[in-house]
Amino acid sequence: MGQLDLIMEFFKANPNRDIAHPEVVDWVVKTYKERTGKVFRDPDRGICSLHQQGKLIKVSKGVYRYDPNFVLHLNLEDFSPALKKQILKRDGYQCVICGAGEKEGVELHVDHIKPKDLGGKATLENGQTLCAKHDFLKKNFNQTSNGQKDVLTPFRKRTRGGGGGAHRLFGGGARRV
Ligand SMILES: [Zn+2]
Repeated sequence: MGQLDLIMEFFKANPNRDIAHPEVVDWVVKTYKERTGKVFRDPDRGICSLHQQGKLIKVSKGVYRYDPNFVLHLNLEDFSPALKKQILKRDGYQCVICGAGEKEGVELHVDHIKPKDLGGKATLENGQTLCAKHDFLKKNFNQTSNGQKDVLTPFRKRTRGGGGGAHRLFGGGARRV
């Protein structure tokens, strides 16, 4: 039995409750000893690593919560590191809107074309590379709420670069603000 599984067992038995470290630690140390006869090493680090994996929500220092919906969300709809890499590679490590890449010193994000909230999946087709600026603009203009696939006009497909700003970003007619 894995130590992390045991920590999750405790949190799953106590969903949607803010739980401080000592309560979890006491239980897992005791239960691990009972079940395996071994000492549970470094439970604090185990909790921390589950948080880093996105399985536990950090409420405040030393307090964590397990929310089944949150985990489902993360697991099903977030891009895995491997898929992210695939999307970045497909897009040539460039923002699909402005063409900026790491060469230009911009931070690249992998974006859900159809947002997760609207049922957008973590698939290669639903992923696109955006620079930090365009990622921010897209999220803040809440674009793609119409579920259209290509509302952002990829720079490669643009015929001319007029317009600027939101108009250019959202390809004119598709704009919904
Ligand atoms: Zn950009």
